[in-house]
Amino acid sequence: MTRPPVVVAGGGLAGAAFAACLAVRGTPVTVLERTAVPGAGEAEALAPGVHAVLSGLGLSGRVHEAGFARGEVSVLGWGNGEEPWRSAFAETGGIDHGYHVCLGALVELLLQRAGECGARVVRGAEVIEPVTDGGRVTGVVVHTAGQTETLPARLVADATGTARVVAGRFCAAEPDPLSHRVFRAVAPADATTEQGAFVLEGAPGEWHWRIPLAGGVVGLGRLVPGGGGDAGGDDGERWRGYRCARLAGAGWLSVGDAAGLADPAFLDPATVALLAAQAAASAVPVLCGDEAEEAARGYMDCYAPVVECARAFAAFCLDPARHGENTETLLRGFTAFAAGEHGGALARIRAALAGHRPLFDVEYPLGPLVASLAMPER
Ligand SMILES: Cc1cc2nc3c(=O)[nH]c(=O)nc-3n(C[C@H](O)[C@H](O)[C@H](O)COP(=O)(O)OP(=O)(O)OC[C@H]3O[C@@H](n4cnc5c(N)ncnc54)[C@H](O)[C@@H]3O)c2cc1C
Repeated sequence: MTRPPVVVAGGGLAGAAFAACLAVRGTPVTVLERTAVPGAGEAEALAPGVHAVLSGLGLSGRVHEAGFARGEVSVLGWGNGEEPWRSAFAETGGIDHGYHVCLGALVELLLQRAGECGARVVRGAEVIEPVTDGGRVTGVVVHTAGQTETLPARLVADATGTARVVAGRFCAAEPDPLSHRVFRAVAPADATTEQGAFVLEGAPGEWHWRIPLAGGVVGLGRLVPGGGGDAGGDDGERWRGYRCARLAGAGWLSVGDAAGLADPAFLDPATVALLAAQAAASAVPVLCGDEAEEAARGYMDCYAPVVECARAFAAFCLDPARHGENTETLLRGFTAFAAGEHGGALARIRAALAGHRPLFDVEYPLGPLVASLAMPER
C-alpha cells in the first residue's frame, strides 16, 4: 500500500513554500487551498533571507524574470523629529537585497514550482477538520466541489493562517491584549517615493508604511494601534495578535500565521513565514517517524521562541511610550530588549532575515536536525 501524502491545509505564503520545499525533495504532498482563484495579494516587503528559500527551490532566476522590485534599504522613522534610521542591506555584509512583491504573484510562483515537482495543488478545497486516530492526526475532512471527503495524510501541516483549522482543534489561540486596525492601498509612485526603500514611520497614534513595487506603483499601509479587535468601526482590516501553546503534535504541525501572529510591520513576518516553512519542511521526516511526539516537542522548542520574540518585539515597538522618544532612549530600550529573555531569538531571527542561517533547526532525540536546503553563496 502506498503511503498517504503530506497534506498542507492552506496554500498561502507559508503553505505554498512548505509544499514546494517538500516537493523538490520528492516527498508526496497535497495542498488544499480554500480559494478557487488566485488573488493578487497585497504589497509586502521581503528581507534578503528570502533568497535562502528561493535558491533552495530553484526559483531565483524566475523571480528575477518576474521583475519583482528589489528592496535594498529599510527606513524606520520614530516620529520624534529626528532623522529616520536607515539600513542598507549591502552594508550589513550579507545579501544586498530582498524583494517588494505583490504577495499573490509570489504564492503562485511557489505553488507552480510545487506542482512542477509533483505536488498536487487543489484549489476550491476547504479543510473542515482534522481526522484523528488514537490522538494522532491521520488525515483531514475536506469539502471540494460540493463533496465532502476524508483525505488520509502521513502528516498534516496547518498553514491556514488565522483560521487555524487543524491547530485550533488542539489548542485555542490566546489573543494579545492589544489590537490594531490596518488600512492598505496601492497608489502611483510620486516624487517622495524612494525606489528600493521600505519606509515605516511612526506618527501620533499610528504607523505608516510605503513599499515601492515594480510598475511605478507603491503599496501603502496604515496601522492604527488600539483600533482593531472587536472595537467599533467597520473599515480597515482588524488585527489582533495571538500566541498558541502548541505548534505541533503527533501527525500535525502549524506554520506561518497559524503558529502565531505578531504584527504586519516589524521583523518581516512574511519572510519569517517563508523561512519557518523551509525549516518545517526539513523536520517532516522526523515528524513522520517513530519519535513523532519527541520531534513535535523539538519543533515547538525551536519555533515557539521565534513567535514569542516577534510578539514581544511588536509590543515593544508599537508601545505608545516609544512615540517621541529620542534615539538615545530608543537605543537603550533596544539594548535592554536584546539583553532580555528574547535576545537569543532576536539575534537568530535577524541572522535568518539577513540570509546568514536557517531560522531554526529542529531538535529531536537524535540531535539537531539542520535545515538541509542549500543556503545561497555569500
Ligand atoms: C495588512 C498586512 C500587511 C502585511 N505586510 C507585510 C509586509 O510588508 N511584510 C511582511 O513581511 N509581512 C507582512 N504581512 C504579514 C504576512 O502577510 C503574513 O505573515 C503571511 O502572509 C502569512 O502567510 P500564511 O501563509 O501563514 O497565512 P495566510 O496568508 O493567511 O494564508 C492562509 C491560507 O489558508 C487558506 N485557508 C484558510 N482557511 C482554509 C481552510 N479551511 N481550508 C483551506 N484553505 C484555507 C487561505 O485562503 C489562505 O490562502 C502583512 C500582513 C497584513 C495582514
